[in-house]
Amino acid sequence: MSAQHNSAQPKATIELKGVRKSFGSVDVIHDLDLKVEGGEFVVFVGPSGCGKSTLLRMIAGLEEVTDGDILIAGRDVTDLDPAKRGIAMVFQSYALYPHMSVRENLAFGLEIARTPAAEIRRQVEAAAGILKIGPLLDRRPGQLSGGQRQRVAIGRAIVRKPLVFLFDEPLSNLDAELRVSMRVEIARLHRELGNTMIYVTHDQTEAMTLADRIVVLRDGRIEQVGSPREVYENPANLFVAGFIGSPR
Ligand code: ADP
Ligand code: MG
Repeated sequence: MSAQHNSAQPKATIELKGVRKSFGSVDVIHDLDLKVEGGEFVVFVGPSGCGKSTLLRMIAGLEEVTDGDILIAGRDVTDLDPAKRGIAMVFQSYALYPHMSVRENLAFGLEIARTPAAEIRRQVEAAAGILKIGPLLDRRPGQLSGGQRQRVAIGRAIVRKPLVFLFDEPLSNLDAELRVSMRVEIARLHRELGNTMIYVTHDQTEAMTLADRIVVLRDGRIEQVGSPREVYENPANLFVAGFIGSPR
């Protein structure tokens, strides 16, 4: 099944070219360039307020760029409607519909898109299988644990078959034990689906274990991009060393 998923999924590159963002007179992202390869798992780390969420929101189209271009799968999406970018975003607040069952929560986006009922059923069953939430489909969000709710939120992203998954600190509301098991789930999800994923966290362990490459941000600028090992063993400067590098 995983091989089937892999071959079925397109692997979209994501390119940021000279991307800037200011809120009023405050510059929060400064002339940022980055290329994420197709199928890559890239983790953004950096202190609170450094611009991680703003970057993700610009890629998703939820925030306008002040300057620069964003390309997904080679296509310039800078002015494209969020719904047409092929992106699904998972947040830390699960934002499930409390009055709907898990099944209805998973199906909702597809119903809006007028997907045929049989196809919706197939997608929902497939996502439930991947996330092991089949037994929960008839429950309401209020009857789920935090980890189960976060699974449903990820399931809702999966059923839309996005090109790209963006995760904004998806596990930060969970207790330590659940964070570990969900981290393993997310790594498995990436192996099975093979999509390009960008994942924001301030948890060093999540960054080190999930990332193909880590992007270290400070004050809206990239301090270093590299594999977990490169960043850990060879931090570009004291800031990176302090944040994730090994002590030297
Ligand atoms: P992070 O996710 O890394 O904690 P954010 O991207 O949320 O950082 O924020 C980056 C900076 O932009 C912060 O200084 C924040 O206060 C500011 N910011 C974010 N959103 C807005 C907004 N809608 N209006 C004004 N300032 C904002
Ligand atoms: Mg944030």
